[in-house]
Amino acid sequence: MTSTFGHVIDGEERGALAGLTFSTVDPWTRAPWAEVALGGAAEADLAVTAARRAFDEGPWPRMGHGERSVLLHRFADLVESHADELALADSRDMGKPVSAATAMDVPRTALNIRFFADHARLSTSEAYPMDSGHHAYARFEPAGVVAAIAPWNFPMMLESWKFAPALAWGNTVVLKPAEDTPASATIMARLALEAGIPPGVFNVVHGYGPGSAGEALTTDPRVDRITFTGESGTGRVITAAAARNLTPVSLEMGGKGANLVFDDADLDNAVAWSIQAIFSNAGQVCLAGSRLYVQRGVFEEFTAGFVAAAEKLVIGDPRDPATDVGPLASEEHWNKVRGYLEEPGGKVLTGGTGDGWVVRPTVLVDVAPDARIQCEEVFGPVVTLTPFDSEEEAVRLANATRYGLNAMVFTENLSRAHRVSAALRAGTVWTNCFFIRDLRAPFGGFGDSGWGREGGTFSREFFTEPKAVIMAVQDR
Ligand code: NAD
Repeated sequence: MTSTFGHVIDGEERGALAGLTFSTVDPWTRAPWAEVALGGAAEADLAVTAARRAFDEGPWPRMGHGERSVLLHRFADLVESHADELALADSRDMGKPVSAATAMDVPRTALNIRFFADHARLSTSEAYPMDSGHHAYARFEPAGVVAAIAPWNFPMMLESWKFAPALAWGNTVVLKPAEDTPASATIMARLALEAGIPPGVFNVVHGYGPGSAGEALTTDPRVDRITFTGESGTGRVITAAAARNLTPVSLEMGGKGANLVFDDADLDNAVAWSIQAIFSNAGQVCLAGSRLYVQRGVFEEFTAGFVAAAEKLVIGDPRDPATDVGPLASEEHWNKVRGYLEEPGGKVLTGGTGDGWVVRPTVLVDVAPDARIQCEEVFGPVVTLTPFDSEEEAVRLANATRYGLNAMVFTENLSRAHRVSAALRAGTVWTNCFFIRDLRAPFGGFGDSGWGREGGTFSREFFTEPKAVIMAVQDR
């Protein structure tokens, strides 16, 4: 039976005003599995109106952090108790293994909600005693209506990275999930209402970007913040649209992560993390370690271990618990990745396309530094391996990109680990690991990978209007 997912606006799940719908396709079966309400400017307008009213007149921004935190923790409880439904929704929408969604996407979604609820509740504000006999202090007041525009690769998890801090700081939200992955957003909005979060506080509107609900949200002057995750080109378009209203924008965008393996590295550890860094989620990860640079002394040994491990990965039905790598998220995306493999610019050691919308874990060597596959974000299970001789050369190669989201360093030399981490132009550097997060730490990118940082107090800066209050504390 086909499922249906509506917009959630002002506490009600509803269809499109004009009754329009679109299908979301399961990339494994390549057949539609759900019908979704198709929103445009009219639905975005309704959702912003609801969020505006809930912010200007409703209880949410006026509650204490403690009260909001209780409701957000209840929401997180419901996310956890609906883990199977949520994991299956993202899997059917974009082909990620259900086992991965259950092990990571759902728990991290709940954790994002819990962390920001606690972070806001426990936060302190700075006070500035003044010699003049005045006392100044900072207040962090909710910014207002937040438009959150999300990508399809980790749907619920990345959406929660936006709406959780926005809600915790007292804002109201209109979330537009990616058109390829609408289902989990509607499910989460249903759960937020069930948790007791008031109507109009967390709205979801479905639709496309240009000329559709996405663009309408970025041009609405009643929106106070736009938080976007997606391609760098889209980030540019959204920033230009937001500039008309001077709406602050936070951008988390593409990447071309460099992964440096030094000859003093623990090679088994380096192989294991490097495999995860490029083949988990079928390589559809902004943080993917898609450029592997390996010191010449261990290049052959590392390459042999890496190719053997890549060939052991199980490709198949995302619903099968044994599956490591599912299909790519859509036919359009599969065609894009296939395009890179048709002009590889180097030698393919293993991989290539598979049945359906599958790309097998693909490893290339001898790739020209200016080949498209080496410079552009492929966003698939495709990695290039290049040898280097010195630490300086490794850093230079890693930094030779317009992106700067993340990098990885594998070495047992502590001084080198610190030195190289400092020299890399990237928002996150992992040493001897990958994908580990502390939600208090800044997250974002250099260059074309990002604008602004989120996480802990960095999210607070974006989702609030910090205010200075200055008062005379001595007799006048
Ligand atoms: P995308 O830019 O095509 O779309 C992202 C979202 O923007 C979708 O919801 C889409 O409908 C919307 N959109 C598109 N055009 C718009 C417009 N003109 N106005 C308003 N909204 C618009 O990206 P995608 O293909 O969904 O996601 C993949 C990209 O996201 C990759 O580049 C990846 O690296 C990046 N990404 C970055 C991070 C990060 O944290 N830096 C995380 C995940 C994904």
